[in-house]
Amino acid sequence: MSIEQKLQKNYSLQTSNTLGFSAFAEYFLAVRSEAELVAAIDYAQQNDLAVRVLGGGSNVLMAPQIDGLVIRIDIMGKKVLHEGVANRALATEVVDIVVGGGENWHETVEWSVAQSLSGMETMALIPGRVGAAPVQNIGAYGQEMKDIVFKVRAYQLETGRFVELFNDDCGFAYRDSVFKQSPGQFIITEVVLRLSCHQDESIRYAALQSYFRDQGISQPDIKQIFNAVCAVRRSKLPDPELLGNAGSFFKNPVITQTQFDQLKLQWPGLVAYPENKGFMKLAAGWLIDQCDWKGKRVGHVGVYEKQALVLVHFGGGDRTELLALASDIQASVLATFSVELEMEPQLFPFV
Ligand SMILES: Cc1cc2nc3c(=O)[nH]c(=O)nc-3n(C[C@H](O)[C@H](O)[C@H](O)COP(=O)(O)OP(=O)(O)OC[C@H]3O[C@@H](n4cnc5c(N)ncnc54)[C@H](O)[C@@H]3O)c2cc1C
Repeated sequence: MSIEQKLQKNYSLQTSNTLGFSAFAEYFLAVRSEAELVAAIDYAQQNDLAVRVLGGGSNVLMAPQIDGLVIRIDIMGKKVLHEGVANRALATEVVDIVVGGGENWHETVEWSVAQSLSGMETMALIPGRVGAAPVQNIGAYGQEMKDIVFKVRAYQLETGRFVELFNDDCGFAYRDSVFKQSPGQFIITEVVLRLSCHQDESIRYAALQSYFRDQGISQPDIKQIFNAVCAVRRSKLPDPELLGNAGSFFKNPVITQTQFDQLKLQWPGLVAYPENKGFMKLAAGWLIDQCDWKGKRVGHVGVYEKQALVLVHFGGGDRTELLALASDIQASVLATFSVELEMEPQLFPFV
């Protein structure tokens, strides 16, 4: 079947974005191989169609109408790259796994945990696909993508070639990367992750520490950490299947130690974590909560009642409504704390 025959026209993406906004793609194609991806891009270029790449739609704010061709990466497969290296008897420190960009992130975490490989167990239950994980350098409870990516394979639109970006080439920073900085330039088809046979035993996050205290577990193993993260996340975050959301809507702002010291005098309860030397990361949810936004509903959208960092869509709304709410929240946090909040999800399409 030719690419033209496989394309779906005026395709609804309402169930393909976790906010549940109504959205239609002019053309849509789920690609299952790199060859199919190249053919789809050739077709788009010959027909003057913009190319947009979508994963699980859990970090995007969709426009109602999306012109051009929306490509979803459905390239599957996960395996240990060097079979022998996985053998504990060889006392190896690390194991490389190669994963297709279309694989579900959480299932990949579960798969690695089942093999007692450490490095991604606290990133359990983050929605979305493996190909999107490097884009915003996903992270949770102390683990981040940047700590486990060995290399990323991607199609570069500018050169029309597949390239391999090693960890240092990816420009990873807090919820940021070269892929996020140059939207639409790289289409990630495969990721090689370097995991450890030994787990990092320090549990730094209060929510996990108290979970283990309650369970009477003093030295949790990888599987127990994975289960704890799943339980804590389920209790705190809304399930997108039941209530539209895109997870944390704002990044935690990073400020200088001097700014922090001044704020702390005025707001003794200020919640913050040490960042790089001389900087502090503020809990954006706490700032929003202090401005009395938690649980507020404005039309079809609102602020989640249990976590002020999560904006929700009750149905029937659109991203204009959500962006207006986000802008009001940003304005009140700026007025109260002189701190700017930056949005985490990306506009789709990005221009
Ligand atoms: C309930 C909930 C909880 C969340 N918790 C967390 C969390 O704890 N930590 C965290 O970091 N994030 C979290 N997120 C955000 C989100 O899950 C992640 O950013 C995830 O990696 C997005 O994956 P996706 O496949 O859904 O990407 P999408 O939303 O489809 O796309 C996101 C961006 O990546 C681009 N993209 C997608 N696939 C590719 C590809 N193959 N190649 C190149 N670019 C691509 C898209 O164009 C878009 O710009 C959460 C979201 C929700 C809804």
